[in-house]
Amino acid sequence: MIKNKKYDLIIVGGGVIGTFCAYHALLKNKSVLLLEKDAQPYEASFRNFGQAVPSGQRLDTWFEHGRRSLKIYKELQEELDISLVPNGSWYVASDDEELGLLEEMSELLNERDYKNRLYTATETSEINPHFKKDYVKGGLFLPDEASLNPLVMVHRVREYLIKSMGLHYQNLCPVIGVEKKRGIAMLTTANKKTYWADDVILANGRDTQFLFPEHYPSDELKVCKLQMMRLAPQKKILKSNILTGLTIRRYESFHSCPSYQKLSTKPEHAPFKKYGIHMLFKQADDGSIILGDSHEYAPVHKSANFGFEISREINELMLAEAKRITNLEKWDVDQTWAGYYLQGTESEVFTKTIDDVIHIINGIGGKGMTTSPGFTQNYIKNLYL
Ligand SMILES: Cc1cc2nc3c(=O)[nH]c(=O)nc-3n(C[C@H](O)[C@H](O)[C@H](O)COP(=O)(O)OP(=O)(O)OC[C@H]3O[C@@H](n4cnc5c(N)ncnc54)[C@H](O)[C@@H]3O)c2cc1C
Repeated sequence: MIKNKKYDLIIVGGGVIGTFCAYHALLKNKSVLLLEKDAQPYEASFRNFGQAVPSGQRLDTWFEHGRRSLKIYKELQEELDISLVPNGSWYVASDDEELGLLEEMSELLNERDYKNRLYTATETSEINPHFKKDYVKGGLFLPDEASLNPLVMVHRVREYLIKSMGLHYQNLCPVIGVEKKRGIAMLTTANKKTYWADDVILANGRDTQFLFPEHYPSDELKVCKLQMMRLAPQKKILKSNILTGLTIRRYESFHSCPSYQKLSTKPEHAPFKKYGIHMLFKQADDGSIILGDSHEYAPVHKSANFGFEISREINELMLAEAKRITNLEKWDVDQTWAGYYLQGTESEVFTKTIDDVIHIINGIGGKGMTTSPGFTQNYIKNLYL
């Protein structure tokens, strides 16, 4: 790296937001430095479920960000293997109310020219023989949606940006101070280095306590803890991302369906509601099945409220619901883990500019893998208008 070089843009945080901000700024021929505190970043962008499902997002700009993100992922996949599998998503309804929502969603997606197809219960069960017949009331298939491997995707994109697009990258580099000095931004790091840039983007995820904590108001942001698990490798049966009844009841896009307001809550949903559980399934390349997820919330800066344990009760609830839905060959749990993200209480993302040159992007919530490439494309475009 050139000593005392001033960059056009420095980005703090090597997750999906930071990495795709770097990508779009490099496409604009900006000089970019990405700083990451850990040896290998391993926060939300690496612990997630890895589904890119625009159909689950609010049917406004976020659906469009998701759609554009899929396009960007597909273009990158042609250039390098970012682990994208365009295997589509299946929503499976377990009762008539959920089926009604799928029918309405199909119409809303048709209005947006977004490929989808409704299937009867019999057809859904024939195509997905691993589902329990008494669970399935019908399905909606989105052929253009995709799955990514979160353990590799961002790492591969970053390596590509370094090798082919001139990104400067520094890991093991916690940024501990950012200020505006002489009209530009000055960053200091824990290893006593100083960097300069015209603009700084803080995409530092849940670690908000070190840089401008006062700019993350607790009425605008909360932190979410999610639990996930991986079942033992088994015969390949799942071809697509599978989203189930509780997901239909939870995902933002379904709030636009006319029947959503009339949706009843059944007593058996109560324990799942308590922990924000909805069931997603996918099968990884090695045959292991990934199951998720739960959602618990605490005020921003108060992740300590969660404790440090993985809750056995939550895992057992998820497994019980998964067993009600599918016949799997093996139910041995090989891994279980927690991930965290920040989420806006009202807004879909939290952005703020301090002193003209320091820009916060955070609180994208549970849609960062689906929408970040498209959202950051817009953000960078507006930054360099
Ligand atoms: C379990 C789970 C499942 C999910 N499933 C999905 C899904 O299927 N589809 C979907 O669309 N979204 C999903 N999400 C949401 C998605 O993962 C997040 O929205 C996204 O990863 C947030 O990205 P980020 O870049 O903001 O944050 P992060 O990935 O948390 O990145 C922030 C980075 O900043 C670094 N950092 C922090 N402070 C500093 C500092 N001072 N100096 C230098 N570096 C710093 C951190 O080390 C970290 O690498 C899921 C999330 C979780 C946790």
